[in-house]
Amino acid sequence: MKILRTPADLKAALQAHSGTIGFVPTMGALHSGHRALIAAARQENDIVVVSIFVNPTQFLAGEDLDAYPRRIEADEKICELSGVDYLFYPEVSQMYGRDEVTVCAPDVRGYILEGTSRPGHFSGVLTVVNKLLNIVAPDRAYFGKKDAQQLMLIETMVNNLFMRVEIVPCETVRDDDGLALSSRNAYLSPEEREEALKIPRALKRATKLVMQGVTRSDRIVAEMTAVLEPLEVEYAVVVDRRFAPAEHVEIGNTIILVEALVGTTRLLDNVWI
Ligand code: AMP
Repeated sequence: MKILRTPADLKAALQAHSGTIGFVPTMGALHSGHRALIAAARQENDIVVVSIFVNPTQFLAGEDLDAYPRRIEADEKICELSGVDYLFYPEVSQMYGRDEVTVCAPDVRGYILEGTSRPGHFSGVLTVVNKLLNIVAPDRAYFGKKDAQQLMLIETMVNNLFMRVEIVPCETVRDDDGLALSSRNAYLSPEEREEALKIPRALKRATKLVMQGVTRSDRIVAEMTAVLEPLEVEYAVVVDRRFAPAEHVEIGNTIILVEALVGTTRLLDNVWI
């Protein structure tokens, strides 16, 4: 595995290859969720590129940019053992200059749900993903369904800007107790972690209701809200795959999403129905 620190070096290295390129962008502190994306990329491509970049433009003032877990040595080992060919690990100054052109998230779908509490977050995400896709020029790029709104907005960007990469959605990987893996789980105290389990429990409850034939979104949301108590719930919603609010669950076209604060840690999770 080669570790490259500049866009020019990575571009030059990749130009020497003729096979397909699979790309997994991350912010590091890698866990089994990231490893599942890397494994999918490894299976479907000749070359696998992983990036680790804690992107400052997707953090709002006062968020956890400085505190975000950084574990580059462990991450290098995980990448090496996962069969990654190139690890791209740039400095901020390699990715951003002054007076930049940026990508704007769509006015509506970039500013609902997670975009409500984090206005501008998704513009930062799309800007950095656009840059990374231009540097790597992959055939396929792998993203987790756990960040469903992010995935939908990246797919929208790729369509709207006529980009030629294939976006591959990957299933959410969970711990044995059901909690979706996230680099931010490292912030949770043991008690908070216990509280956080209400999130996957609420989604399980929702899934069970759907399996029992309940389709009304208001009923499902009410039951989820009861399970989530006393967490501070930012949203618990039923949307269609385009993120329009849905009054009824429609099998194959619904996502049920939850975002809740556990202590000061904001956790997201969802199920695709
Ligand atoms: P992050 O490093 O948190 O920015 O995540 C990098 C990629 O890994 C994103 O596409 C995430 O959606 C994905 N990811 C994060 N957590 C999980 C998980 N538990 N299961 C599957 N994919 C995940």
